[in-house]
Amino acid sequence: MKIGNFYSPKFNRKKRSKNLIKIIIIHYTGMQSERESIIRLCNPKFKVSSHFLINQNGKVYRLVQDNRIAWHAGKSCWGKYKNLNKNSIGIELVNKGHRFGYTNFKKKQLLSLTKICKSLIKKYKIKKKNIIGHSDIAPLRKIDPGEKFPWKQLAKKNIGIWHDRRPSLLRKFRRIKLFTRQDKVKFVKNLNNIGYCVLVKKRFFFAKTVKAFQRHYRKELINGLPDKECLIIAENLSKKAIKNP
Ligand SMILES: [Zn+2]
Repeated sequence: MKIGNFYSPKFNRKKRSKNLIKIIIIHYTGMQSERESIIRLCNPKFKVSSHFLINQNGKVYRLVQDNRIAWHAGKSCWGKYKNLNKNSIGIELVNKGHRFGYTNFKKKQLLSLTKICKSLIKKYKIKKKNIIGHSDIAPLRKIDPGEKFPWKQLAKKNIGIWHDRRPSLLRKFRRIKLFTRQDKVKFVKNLNNIGYCVLVKKRFFFAKTVKAFQRHYRKELINGLPDKECLIIAENLSKKAIKNP
C-alpha cells in the first residue's frame, strides 16, 4: 500500500518504546473537507494530531511515526489504561461527522484501514479488544467514529471484537428494561470487562457510557438506557474479552 507522508510537527519529542503500544483508536475527522483536516492535524496551533489519516479514496497519510506519541485521545480511559495517547495509535478517517453531514464510510477507506490495522496488530501484538473508537474511551466528550462505523464487518476480519448472538433473537429484548439491581450490576460488570471505564454514581456519566456502548455494539437504538438486549450483548462480549483475544 502506498502511504503519503505529511508530517505533523505535533508530537512528543521523546521516543516511546514499542511495548507501550497497546491500543488502536479509530476517529473521524468531523470537518468539512479533507484539506481542512490535514491542515488542522498538522498545524501546531491546534493541539491535535494522529498517526494516520485515511481519505475517502483510501489514500493513507502518515502524520506521526508510531514511536512518537500523537495527541488524539485526550482525557480518556480504557481498562487499566488512562489518558491513552502514550499507549495508542490514532487513525483518523475523513468524514464530515455528525456536525457537518455524517456519511457512510467508503469501501476503499475501510480497505486501507483494514490493511493498516492488520499490520499494526502483527507488529505490536495488539489485542482485538483493544481496537476501539474514540467514543469508547472518552464517552463524555466524543461520539466518533459514530454509529455508521462498521464494527461488525471489521470484526469478521479480526479487527475488534463482536458478539455472536443472533440479531433476530436479540431484537426481542430491545427496550425491555433491566429491572433488578442484580441485572444492573451485571451489566456494569460486563462493561468493565469489555474495557469501558464506568462511573455508575453519576447518572449523566453512566448514560453517556451506555450510549458509547450502544453506538459501537447496538446502533439500532442509542438512548443511553441499558435494556435486556444490551445486557445479552455485553455478557457475550465480556466473555470474549476475558478470554483475552
Ligand atoms: Zn476523535
